[in-house]
Amino acid sequence: MEILDGKLLSCKIKDEVKAGSDSYHVTPILAVITIGDDEASKVYVENKRKACEYVGMSMMHFDYADCVKEKVVIKKIRELNKEKTVNGIILQLPLPDGFDEKKIINEISPEKDVDGLTDTSQGRLLMGESGFVPCTPMGIIEIFDYYKINLEGKHVVVVGRSNLVGKPIMIECLKRNATCTICHSKTKDLAHYTKDADVLIVATGHKYLIDKTMVKKGVVIIDVGITRIEKKIYGDVNPDVESVASYVTPVPGGVGPMTVAMLLKNTLIAYKNQNDPQ
Ligand code: NDP
Repeated sequence: MEILDGKLLSCKIKDEVKAGSDSYHVTPILAVITIGDDEASKVYVENKRKACEYVGMSMMHFDYADCVKEKVVIKKIRELNKEKTVNGIILQLPLPDGFDEKKIINEISPEKDVDGLTDTSQGRLLMGESGFVPCTPMGIIEIFDYYKINLEGKHVVVVGRSNLVGKPIMIECLKRNATCTICHSKTKDLAHYTKDADVLIVATGHKYLIDKTMVKKGVVIIDVGITRIEKKIYGDVNPDVESVASYVTPVPGGVGPMTVAMLLKNTLIAYKNQNDPQ
């Protein structure tokens, strides 16, 4: 069994982004909008700030209390859309109750939508047109490419159907000629599907939903899930799968760091598109 080392690969990608960013005379800028006081979000935003600093980008943080009016956030996004020095804009999720996540995200200009979550970006992805792909699925594809895991003709089973992870990774795998099955909380007999997977991608947020009895020998497993219990992080996949799988992403140190690296990569692409279009 080989570990798919997302931490190592993310460092390599960050160095590539840094080289790209250093070749410009102006610093690319990522604007991050947060609403409320979500503890996990604070950690993620801090990680993004550090990663931006490392690659020579600037991160602007607009931090709103959960009593902020939606129209105030929308006004800020519209200003940032027009601001030429800002290349990427993201809204850190989840939002506190009462905010219309979709409505706010859709205010972000598709040219600056480096999280790939606007309807325009998602539609472009579905139609096979160029645009920003959400960072987690992009990071998973980078892992496949780096470790030379060919998806053609393979049965890829995705557990989870969110717009952030499950649906976009399924589309990316289809593009690479995989045969795809997508499962979710209403799937009957989940193990029936997971046992047939050549490649299993799990993104549910349920600690150890998948164990070794649910997979076949030689399977490639991508564990996206994150569950925090008393400051420790667990994936969706029980580590006992290591006795049967051929490749596994660890949690932490697998998909997580790749997600941040892809955000930087998308921000650099946004910068290039806005300043140096081919
Ligand atoms: P969502 O809550 O939006 O989606 C979870 C999906 O899992 C849903 O489609 C849900 O089904 C499905 N699901 C839930 N329980 C089960 C079950 N028992 N059996 C089968 N399917 C189930 O989450 P996200 O997609 O945003 O994130 C998923 C996980 O990945 C979370 O732990 C999140 O923290 C983590 N994550 C990690 C990232 C990283 O960088 N490592 C990035 C993004 C997310 P249904 O649609 O029927 O409700």
